[in-house]
Amino acid sequence: MYELLNLQLPSPVTQIHDDLLEQKNLQLFIKRDDLIHPLLQGNKFRKLKYNLLNARSQQLDTLLTFGGAYSNHIHATAAAGHLLGFKTIGIIRGEETLPLNPTLEDATRWGMKIDYVSRADYREKDSPHFIAQLKNKYEAFYLIPEGGSNTLALKGCAGITSELDSNYDVICTACGTGSTMAGLILGANENCTILGYSILNSQGHMKKAINQHLDINNADHTCHWEVITDYHFGGYAKTDNQLINFINRFQKQHQIQLEPVYTGKMLYGLFEQIKKNYFEPGTKILAIHTGGLQGLRGFGL
Ligand SMILES: *Cc1c(COP(=O)(O)O)cnc(C)c1O
Repeated sequence: MYELLNLQLPSPVTQIHDDLLEQKNLQLFIKRDDLIHPLLQGNKFRKLKYNLLNARSQQLDTLLTFGGAYSNHIHATAAAGHLLGFKTIGIIRGEETLPLNPTLEDATRWGMKIDYVSRADYREKDSPHFIAQLKNKYEAFYLIPEGGSNTLALKGCAGITSELDSNYDVICTACGTGSTMAGLILGANENCTILGYSILNSQGHMKKAINQHLDINNADHTCHWEVITDYHFGGYAKTDNQLINFINRFQKQHQIQLEPVYTGKMLYGLFEQIKKNYFEPGTKILAIHTGGLQGLRGFGL
């Protein structure tokens, strides 16, 4: 199904060279999932990959999913529909705001049918009652949960580790729902440490969410993993000048574009940890560029 899209898989790995890394005797690499496809990139592609194959094998040609108005997952699902010939329905949290933001403008242009629901109703989106209502309203569809986060999504994210042709001591990712991190934990070697940088101000919640994902997937023993909670900048999509300056400097120095919701926070946090000698000299680190660059347009960067 994906043959015609010319996806850049396995995604390339770029080494980052910089004085700080040299001084601390660390090696840092970035896995460029942002380069998989201009429209269908990052962990949102990884999460959709097996879900779309599953939808097709069930001969369901409509995808229905959920998200906020700036959601990378909504954008990726709409792009997948456009590129692969699925009809798509997006259940969007909150009221319609006109003109449409760039995320929903793309989605609409690619044929996604947008259905706005109140924040209160949106909270019920996983309930049997709410889903029964959707089944009444729309023809048969393949349901993908918010953020794409289900067991097939974890399988797709675990696939990141099977593309690696070298051993890394540490693999880093940004965490929203935690399912990308859970997938990496499932896929990684036993002697690898996975670090997840929470982009939410959620304290213990992220660890719980990841454990839930692991339990559902019967992970009995896993590699070492840790959630880093110090670099959320106040919570979801919150930023400040320090973060924006870091992203701009990183782009200038390494020609790699980050965004402030996920990858910017992860790499900011990682560099702060490096300055504070969090890592043993000689450590080989891989950070996953989980994409999300469509979201930049909301920040005017
Ligand atoms: C959605 C997203 C994440 C978070 O993934 P989760 O599996 O929800 O933790 C990280 N980075 C980017 C760019 C994303 O779009």
